[in-house]
Amino acid sequence: MTRVQLSGVGKRYPAPQKGGSDIVAVEDVSIDVASGEIHAIIGYSGAGKSTLLRLINGLERATSGLIRVGEDELTALRERELRPVRQKIGMIFQQFNLFHSKTAAKNVEYPLIVAGMPAEERKARVAELLDFVGLGDRGSAFVDQLSGGQKQRVGIARALATNPGVLLADEATSALDPETSQEVLALLKRVNAELGITIILITHEMEVVREIAHRVTVMDSGRAVEQGDVFEVFSAPQTDTTRKFVATALPSEPTQEHLATLMERHRGRLVSLTFRDGDVDQPVVFTTLAERGVTVSIVHGGVAEVGGRSFGKLTLELIGDELRVEHAIAALAQQTELEVLA
Ligand code: ADP
Repeated sequence: MTRVQLSGVGKRYPAPQKGGSDIVAVEDVSIDVASGEIHAIIGYSGAGKSTLLRLINGLERATSGLIRVGEDELTALRERELRPVRQKIGMIFQQFNLFHSKTAAKNVEYPLIVAGMPAEERKARVAELLDFVGLGDRGSAFVDQLSGGQKQRVGIARALATNPGVLLADEATSALDPETSQEVLALLKRVNAELGITIILITHEMEVVREIAHRVTVMDSGRAVEQGDVFEVFSAPQTDTTRKFVATALPSEPTQEHLATLMERHRGRLVSLTFRDGDVDQPVVFTTLAERGVTVSIVHGGVAEVGGRSFGKLTLELIGDELRVEHAIAALAQQTELEVLA
């Protein structure tokens, strides 16, 4: 079981031109990933995600702050001392980074050879790993004969070979079609649940976070701008960056332009209701409206699953006598988070 702690971590690269200022790739990032957690780091391109991952696996050195992976304080170790620590950290990549001239089995075996495991043991371990990722019968296939999803499964088997406590995933599903992505995400969930491996994944895909992460850190310009339980962060984003990401994956309120179109099409009052994980009894909402003689049509939004909980945002058109609609809005505002849009 491996906990990963980052405290005030920074990474500066020297200025590309003499006299220029340093490139600040990561600035003052603190993340505490609990043992057995799936933690997603999300952000736009250039936010510092890959740099942060390279610092966690010890491929690059932080220029400030502290990084601890399990018992090992990476930032206090010399290069030579880092090598055995890296074996406890598995990594998978967007482009899989496999040896194309080798078979699936040889790819998985490679880290075991590096670790000095005897041949007989290696064979058994490779078979076990390929079985775990559902490729028990594909060991002798060459990498080029495998589909993208199968390649990533080989990548995962290889990353697990030396029994790491933590797995780092760099855009692991971004090169895959949606269905294959789902399969790989399901496999990562098993890696986490059955093997107890802590997973840190970086992605620009909200769907990935929504699907498998427990907690999330949102990065922007090298900084961690928002952090917490996936459901809490998604259902009540605090920064513009997070709001933009959330809008790609969750039902949201109509944009200003869309609202203008809706107002042309719908003459009633438009209100937006937020439902968070059963905090509002939907039947009660609709009964409240019906009892006050107000009819409803849903004009925008929906309900989605986030981290196993439900989140909904519905824009409703309320139609009826003006006073009744006013009363209904007042009653709804008592029961739920409501915003009057028009
Ligand atoms: P992300 O993974 O979120 O797209 P990166 O970590 O790749 O972001 O990059 C963050 C910033 O650091 C970018 O401005 C990038 O140009 C810069 N950067 C990354 N690696 C290097 C490097 N080796 N040398 C100089 N600048 C770098």
